[in-house]
Amino acid sequence: MTERLWAPWRLEYVQNADAQEGCVFCVAAAADDDEAHLVVHRGERAFVLLNKFPYASGHLLVAPYRHGLDFDDLADEEALEIHRLGAAGLAALRTVYRPEGFNLGWNIGRIAGAGIPGHGHLHVVPRWSGDTNFMPVLADVRVIPEHLVATRRRLAEAWSARPGTAANPSE
Ligand SMILES: [Zn+2]
Repeated sequence: MTERLWAPWRLEYVQNADAQEGCVFCVAAAADDDEAHLVVHRGERAFVLLNKFPYASGHLLVAPYRHGLDFDDLADEEALEIHRLGAAGLAALRTVYRPEGFNLGWNIGRIAGAGIPGHGHLHVVPRWSGDTNFMPVLADVRVIPEHLVATRRRLAEAWSARPGTAANPSE
């Protein structure tokens, strides 16, 4: 498991995360431009964005809007919505990419791989057999590669094409 998810570009990511201005989740949550910030879906208390430094294509992050929370700090409503957004993310990823499996989890603390320890988030990582052989290496932290923009659009469309899901109870 550890070996399968080993990703050499993560080191650069962790190093650069410290140098970035502000919290990427708070910046994305406050922004108007979903495409520029790779936001796939906005819920009531939490939202979904693509990981700019993915372990695999379609690697989603589900985060509460509130900064400073981690897995064990969430209010009940936040925990429930993050769970449901994760479930809706599985559905959107199945629709678009047909992965063979998923890893879902929280990295708590730098030692566990958390790149942004100040703003807790759930990872939703689609998996394919042999996927470590073709995972992209993304070195530039300032430029969003075109394939991420395309991925965001496809997932956002798959999401909005599923009205009445648990993530959108009001629709
Ligand atoms: Zn934040």
